[in-house]
Amino acid sequence: MVAQIEAEAKATAAYTDRKTFSAAVMAAIGKVPRHEFVPQSQAPMAYVNAALPIGFRQTISQPYIVALMTDLLDLEKSAVVLEIGTGSGYQTAVLAEIAKQVYSIDIVQELAGEETERLKRLGYKNVVIRSGDGYDGWPEHAPFDGILVTAVTPDVPPALIEQLKVGGRMAIPVGNRILGEDLMVIEKDQAGEIRERLVLPVAFVPFTRAAQTNA
Ligand code: SAH
Repeated sequence: MVAQIEAEAKATAAYTDRKTFSAAVMAAIGKVPRHEFVPQSQAPMAYVNAALPIGFRQTISQPYIVALMTDLLDLEKSAVVLEIGTGSGYQTAVLAEIAKQVYSIDIVQELAGEETERLKRLGYKNVVIRSGDGYDGWPEHAPFDGILVTAVTPDVPPALIEQLKVGGRMAIPVGNRILGEDLMVIEKDQAGEIRERLVLPVAFVPFTRAAQTNA
């Protein structure tokens, strides 16, 4: 799987500006046992570079996308990271290998509960997960060095930009199924100015809002 990600990184370098991902990111990908994060029926596929179903109409992201999004954050070891869309918890674990502290929110209550248990069992002590609508971020733990969103939203939630540290970076899929979706990197530079860059076309599950979920 690591070799497949490296090949895809090279093939997409014209879009991403990154021919390779950092040693820390690739080491984390090599270390996190992805088969622990997929349903048993999908276990034979766990180390294929593909997205897989995890129940609740959600998916575990493609490993190349997990590696790319993590790499785009340029995290230091001291980083505090917010993830919106815990899902299987796989991306959460990859972040936890690299950063000092990871906070993750999923709107599906069952997923947030299951992942807390699983990550605890796998020995991750620097992860806190809660269920809720990630649109408002997690102000109590802000600001964040990195924010990673794993569900596609028509526009960037303003609270997430607010909760980004100066010098911090966010990776977020933006768009919709009809007009297309793009992975975007948003950076808050030292002057507090926001810079945005489209990275490449992607396909993510939709970012849902609390009101819709409860309907
Ligand atoms: N990184 C995950 C991807 C999961 S799919 C993985 O690799 O497993 C995206 C997740 O985003 C789903 O679990 C979905 O429940 C969650 N999600 C969608 N809208 C959300 C919202 N408003 N707030 C928090 N989580 C949300």
